[in-house]
Amino acid sequence: VAKHAGRNRFSYFTPDIRDSASARLRAIDQLRQALARRELRVYYQPIVELASEAIVKAEALVRWHHPDGSLVLPQHFIGIAEETGLIGEIDAWVLAQAVPCAARLGELTGAPFQISVNKSPVGFTRRVIGHGWEEDLALFNSAGARIAVEITEGMLLDDSPGVRDKLARLQKAGVQFTIDDFGIGYSSMAYLNKFKVDFLKIDQSFVKDMHTTNPRGQIFAETIIMMAHKLGLKVIAEGVETASQRDWLRQAGCDYAQGFLFSPATTEERFAQLLQAG
Ligand code: C2E
Ligand code: MG
Ligand code: MG
Ligand code: MG
Repeated sequence: VAKHAGRNRFSYFTPDIRDSASARLRAIDQLRQALARRELRVYYQPIVELASEAIVKAEALVRWHHPDGSLVLPQHFIGIAEETGLIGEIDAWVLAQAVPCAARLGELTGAPFQISVNKSPVGFTRRVIGHGWEEDLALFNSAGARIAVEITEGMLLDDSPGVRDKLARLQKAGVQFTIDDFGIGYSSMAYLNKFKVDFLKIDQSFVKDMHTTNPRGQIFAETIIMMAHKLGLKVIAEGVETASQRDWLRQAGCDYAQGFLFSPATTEERFAQLLQAG
């Protein structure tokens, strides 16, 4: 979506303006109000099983329907939300939308449906007033395997007993974990060794490079898939935009794919239509 999203540009959140203290305060204030006024929306992007090309899961991605009529993408406000701690509230809110949505989609298909939510490391390790882990945990407990949590390796930088304990409790509640953007961090492998996850998401950059004349993307993807399978994990490829990427990933044994080739993130209503169209 980001590419052809001219109207998604939002001047308050461009990096140069972010440096100005007053513009920053204004941005923070607007984001607070966005939460209070319910201007945030959760969009859902299909995750397909490569073998069948059926939609089997979704990723919840937050958007901001700004009162000026623009649709603001997360890249313009997640950073500020993380710096101010508002991200805890945003992530908790997204989760609270995703849990009943997964139940509704499950009813539609007659089988359990899983939605994955992104969890900022900031919200994970620091208690944010009013929206701590206890509340999240209560939601997760009722949702069980309907929810997967996408973490980047930043999350596990904090390898404290407190964080580990929270993760263990969530796993006991049936929540599954995905390492997002796998392969671009400094210590992705070390994390895999430290913490038991269920899915690896191959970073988009490898998928993008897959069919260039210097196909390092293929080598990375192949290696990640092989390693994941040996560890008993499933692999999701992100940013799949072309049929040749899809076909290559399928023959390489990748389990799931997500990308504009199938669908961008969309409203629950539209997602339900896609799901029912088969
Ligand atoms: P992510 O979790 O890695 O999400 C994947 C991003 O790739 C999404 O961007 C998605 O729209 C985009 N994408 C999907 N398919 C394609 C494709 O085929 N080509 C290209 N070029 N892009 C594709 P989005 O929605 O703008 O989100 C950007 C990032 O913002 C996410 O990256 C995630 O890190 C963060 N984010 C989004 N929603 C939330 C949230 O609720 N909480 C937190 N903490 N972070 C979020
Ligand atoms: Mg993600
Ligand atoms: Mg990703
Ligand atoms: Mg990302």
